[in-house]
Amino acid sequence: MTSTPAATLPGTAAASAVGLTKTYGSGESEVRALDSVTVDLHAGEFTAIMGPSGSGKSTLMHCLAALDTPTSGQVVVDGTDLGSLGDKELTTIRRTRVGFVFQAFNLIPTLTAKENILLPLSLAGRSPDHAWFDTVVDAVGLRDRLDHRPSEMSGGQQQRVACARALVSKPSIVFADEPTGNLDSVSGAEVLAFLRRSVDEFGQTIVMVTHDALAASHCDRVVFLADGKVVDELLRPSREQILEHITALQAAAAARATRATGATGTGA
Ligand code: ADP
Repeated sequence: MTSTPAATLPGTAAASAVGLTKTYGSGESEVRALDSVTVDLHAGEFTAIMGPSGSGKSTLMHCLAALDTPTSGQVVVDGTDLGSLGDKELTTIRRTRVGFVFQAFNLIPTLTAKENILLPLSLAGRSPDHAWFDTVVDAVGLRDRLDHRPSEMSGGQQQRVACARALVSKPSIVFADEPTGNLDSVSGAEVLAFLRRSVDEFGQTIVMVTHDALAASHCDRVVFLADGKVVDELLRPSREQILEHITALQAAAAARATRATGATGTGA
């Protein structure tokens, strides 16, 4: 039997943010993209991060994935405090412990599907686990497409190659940034079904940033950000519950903005 990818025990955190703050600029032009965010991303769970544009979703994901460094606070991935690591060690963490799926697929156009899937392992100088490679390729339904280049595949097929690439190194956590944002609804549903299956059957941990309530309804947990803070979460929500929640958060944000405008007297 093929071993499962997650090294972390279910119920524990595959990644955590502790008092995570990220600011850009300084003085009057300072932007607080993250404002003391503390959140555990549980191993073996599919978590969605939602929130309005500018609420800090990308910044949080980039800090958790070791692609960006916080101004203060701590990021722990797989039990390792990223703040204690140098550049070389951070590169190793990104290559070996973290998988990525991007909205724009980000495949290498000159490589075949198989070569794209194996690229992270090649870069890390690791040899593939052939049984695991076969399991992942069959799970995404790409067996008969392995010799095709990205230009010879549909968007949905390319994103399934990207999903396989993310999983093949058995990362502790996969970060998916709007993975269905460029796909039609049928291809999007196939990608979400694969991500769900990789959590349920392979014990993978996945964190997905999405604007799409239907996509988030595939998740075990939805964490809501607003103004750089975690403001709420829902467990196993339906699409309708997520939509209701987003509407309530938008109304609260509009009320805050109205109060702020009224308080400073700069409205209209
Ligand atoms: P989201 O992903 O929810 O849309 P982001 O994390 O991209 O939010 O951005 C959060 C806030 O940080 C926004 O106000 C954004 O303008 C700001 N921000 C993000 N990246 C930068 C940057 N490189 N320089 C300056 N401000 C940034």
